[in-house]
Amino acid sequence: MAKKKVFVISHSHWDREWYMPFEKHHLRLVKLLDEVLDLIDTDPKFNSFQLDGQAIIIDDYLAIRPENEGRIKKAIAAGKLRVGPFYVLQDDFLISPEAHVKDFQIGRQTAEKYGPMMGIGYFPDTFGNMGQTPQMLHLADLDAVAFGRGVKPTGLNNQVSEGAFDSSFSEMTWSGPDKSAVLGILFANWYSNGNEIPVDRKEAKAYWTKKLADVEKYASTDNLLMMNGVDHQPVQKDVTKALEVAQELFPDYEFIHSNFDDYLAAVKADLPKNLSEVKGELTSQETDGWYTLTNTASSRIYLKQKNTQVQQELINEATQLAAIFLPADQYPQDQLTYAWKLLLQNDIHDSITGCSVDEVHREMMTRFEKVEAIAQSIRDDAEAAMAARIKTDDFAKDSYPFAIINASDVAKTGTVTAEVELDRALFSDGRPDAQFAKMQLGEQENRNFKIVDATGKQYEGRVTGFTTRFGADLPKDRFRVPYMALYAEVEVHVDALPAFSWQTLALAPVATPRMYADQDQTHLLTNNNVLENDWLKATISPVDGSLTIVDKPNQRTYTRQAVFEDVGDMGNEYIFKETADQRRIYSTDQAPEIHVVENSSQRAIVEVISTLQIPKAASAQLNYEQRAVIDITHRQATRSDETIALQLHTLITLEKGARQLDFKVSYDNQATNHRLRVLFPTQIKATTHQAESIFEVVDRPNLPSKEWENPTNPQRQQAFVNLHDDQGGVTVANYGLNEYEILPADGTIAVTMLRCIGELGDWGYFLTPEAQCQGAQTAHFALLFHGASEADRNETYHLARAWQTPILTKSLAHQTGDLAAAGQWLQIKSADQAFAVTGVERDAKAKLIVRGYNLSKASKSVQVAHNQAAAEVVNFLSEPTKVANDQDLRGAEIRSYRFDK
Ligand SMILES: [Zn+2]
Repeated sequence: MAKKKVFVISHSHWDREWYMPFEKHHLRLVKLLDEVLDLIDTDPKFNSFQLDGQAIIIDDYLAIRPENEGRIKKAIAAGKLRVGPFYVLQDDFLISPEAHVKDFQIGRQTAEKYGPMMGIGYFPDTFGNMGQTPQMLHLADLDAVAFGRGVKPTGLNNQVSEGAFDSSFSEMTWSGPDKSAVLGILFANWYSNGNEIPVDRKEAKAYWTKKLADVEKYASTDNLLMMNGVDHQPVQKDVTKALEVAQELFPDYEFIHSNFDDYLAAVKADLPKNLSEVKGELTSQETDGWYTLTNTASSRIYLKQKNTQVQQELINEATQLAAIFLPADQYPQDQLTYAWKLLLQNDIHDSITGCSVDEVHREMMTRFEKVEAIAQSIRDDAEAAMAARIKTDDFAKDSYPFAIINASDVAKTGTVTAEVELDRALFSDGRPDAQFAKMQLGEQENRNFKIVDATGKQYEGRVTGFTTRFGADLPKDRFRVPYMALYAEVEVHVDALPAFSWQTLALAPVATPRMYADQDQTHLLTNNNVLENDWLKATISPVDGSLTIVDKPNQRTYTRQAVFEDVGDMGNEYIFKETADQRRIYSTDQAPEIHVVENSSQRAIVEVISTLQIPKAASAQLNYEQRAVIDITHRQATRSDETIALQLHTLITLEKGARQLDFKVSYDNQATNHRLRVLFPTQIKATTHQAESIFEVVDRPNLPSKEWENPTNPQRQQAFVNLHDDQGGVTVANYGLNEYEILPADGTIAVTMLRCIGELGDWGYFLTPEAQCQGAQTAHFALLFHGASEADRNETYHLARAWQTPILTKSLAHQTGDLAAAGQWLQIKSADQAFAVTGVERDAKAKLIVRGYNLSKASKSVQVAHNQAAAEVVNFLSEPTKVANDQDLRGAEIRSYRFDK
C-alpha cells in the first residue's frame, strides 16, 4: 500500500489591518518576509512559502524594502514564494461584483509581474462564501478553491452527507447557480492545522498523533493537507527539521514540505467518486447561527454608504464614461488601476466589514476620499470630452443648453436637479469682487425660462434659484483661469429617460414665469398626508406615522409600512446580540409631526418627524462583560434606565410616473449600544425570498435550519431584497444598507439603518468607540411593488440597482458636434429584462467590455449592441470563451462582451 502523504504548506494568514492599524501590521509583515527570504536562501529543503493568496503583500513589502525586489522576483520565479491569485483577501458580500473582477485581474497582473501565479482560488477567512464563486473562478481561469467557512464537515463516521451545506470530506464539489462546478477544499481543521510543529521527539509524537487523526477524519484521499501558519504567524524556521523528525517517528507516512499547486495535483489525481456536492452560497446555514459573522454588514454602516457612493462614481461614472466618450487611446487605464488598488485595500475582509479598530476605519475614509477624487477627475474629463461633441446648434442662440446623462441600465423617471451656467466673468477682465457683483446683478434680473429639447418640445420643470460662485478652469496647455459664474438651479422632470443615454435640453427665456403647470393639473399630495401617482397611493397615519400603501396596478394593500424599531445591542462588530431585557421601542409609540415640503403635479415630498424615547446606553454590566472577555452568548447586560429622544426626520418622496416611494431619514444619534431598523411587514406568505448578491439574485429560505439557535437570522444584500408570492410582491432598495432580516411570521422585511457597538470582539478586548456611530446619520431606501410576471419583478430589480446611480448633468456651449442632441451608447434587449449590467470598461488592449449577469435562474435571450460593433463573449481576463448560444444567457450566467471598437 502506498504511504499517505502529508503536504505541509508554510504560510501566514495576513490580515493587513485589523486589531492594530495598518502600519503596525505592515512592519511585522516586513519582518516576516525578511525571515522568509533568508530561510529560502539558507534551507534548500524549504519548499516554499505561500503568500496568503493576496498579491498586495508584495507591494506592501517592497514599499519598505525596494532593494529586495530582485530577491522577491527570483524567489517567485523559482516557486519558492507562491503568490496570487487575488490582489487582496476581500469580503465576499459587501463589495460590488466589479470589485471582485478587479481583485482577480489586478491580483493576476501583480503576481505575474514576478513569476507564475498560484493556481487556486483562496478564501481562507471570508465570512461565508458567495454562491457565484465557482463560475467566477472559471471566468478567471481557475478550477479549484480553498476556503475556511460556510460548510460543516461531517467526517467519515457519517458517510452520507445530507444537506446542501455539509460534506463528509474536506474535499467536495462546489457548484453555483449556473451549474458551474469547482473542486472545493475546506480547511476542516482551520488553516492552522499544521502550525508550530515540534522538533522535540516527545512533543512531536503527541502532536502528530492528534493532528494526523484530525486531518484523516475528513480527508477523501491519502493526500493530507497541513497548514503551517495562522494569523500573523512568523515563519517556522525549523519546519524542515521538524518534518525530518516526523518522518522518523511516523514511517508509514511521507512528510512533504510543499505548496498548493503540488498538493492540488496530487488530490485531483486521487479523488474518489463519492464526493459531496455543496450548492450555491455557503454561509454556515447549518450551524447554531452565532458565528456566521453576517452582522459585520451592519457594523459602521457609514463605511458601507461611502463605499456604495465611491464604487458608483468609479464604475458607472468615471470608468464607463471614459470608456465610451474618451478616444480609446486616451482611456486612463493606469489611473483606474491605481484607483482600484486603493479601493481594494478597503474591500478586505476586516476592513469594509467594519470589524477593526477605529484607526483602521479612519484611514479607510481617507482612502475612499482619494478614490473619489480620482473618479471625479476622470469623470469630469470624460464628461467634458462628451460635452464638446454634442451638437447644440438646433437650440436658439439665447438659450442655455445642458445635457442630462443616464449611466444606468434602465429607463429613469423623476426629477433631475441641474446647475446650468448662464454667465461667466473672468478675473483677467476685472477684480474678483467686481465680477462677483456683476454676476449677482444677473441673479437679481427678472429672468424666466422654459425647458425645451432640440425639437422644441417642452419639459416640465422650473428654475428654483440662482447662485454666483467662484470657479477655475485648469487648461491642459496654460495657466489656470479663475472666474465668477452665474448658475440657474434647475429641476426638470424626465419621463423614461432611456438606459445608457443622454438628452440635451435648454433653458429658453420666456416673458412670464413658467413653473410647473400646477393650475391645471392634479397635485400628487392631498390632505397633507396622501401621496399618490399612477403606481401607488401612500397614506401616512397622523396617529403613528406608519404608511398604508396601495399597489394600484396589482390591487394590493400593505399596512404599517416603514415603522422604525430600536433595540439594545450588547454584541460587537461581528455579532448582534440583543440586550437581555429585550426592550424594543417603535416609532409608532408616539404620534408624528407631518410637514409638507413640496406638492406639485410632478413631485410630492412630505417630512415625517418620529420621536423614539430610547435608552441612552447599555447597563454597566456590559462594561464588565467586555473587560472580562465574556462570550456574546453568555452576556446578561440590559439597556440603561436613562432615556433620550431619538428624532427621525424622514423625507418621503413620490415622483410623477415613478414606481418607487423614496425614503431619506436623517437624525442625530446620541445613544450607544443599540440597533435601529425600518420594518416593512408585507404579510406575504412565502418560504423563500430573493436578494441581490454578487452577480446573482439569490433565493434564500425565510426560516433558518433546525440547528439554528441565534434568535436572529441576518442576511446580506447588495442593492435590494424582495418578498413575493405568485401574485406579485415588494422590493426594498437600499443605499449602503447591506443587512436585512426576513421575519417570517408576518413576512416583514427589516433593513438595518444603524448598529452601534463599542468593541471589536473576536479574540480579545479592543474598544471601538467610533463604532458607536455618534452624531449625524442618514439612511436612504425605497419601496417598489410588482405583479406576477418575472419581467415586472425584474424591472423593480433594475430600478433598485439604478436608484444608486444619479442622473448626471453638464452645461453645454452652442456648437456643432458629431454626437446628436440625444443618443444611446448601449442597446440591451433581454427577455424579461433579465440582463443586468455591472460594468462598462476597456480592457488592457483598449477594447470595450460590457459585463453583466442574468437576474433569472432560467435561460433568457439577450442582445447587447454598441455602435454596430461586432462583439464576442470573453472571460474576466478578456479571453474569448465558448458559450452554447451567444443569443441566450444560461440561468444565472455572468457574461462579458468584448466589442471590436
Ligand atoms: Zn483574516
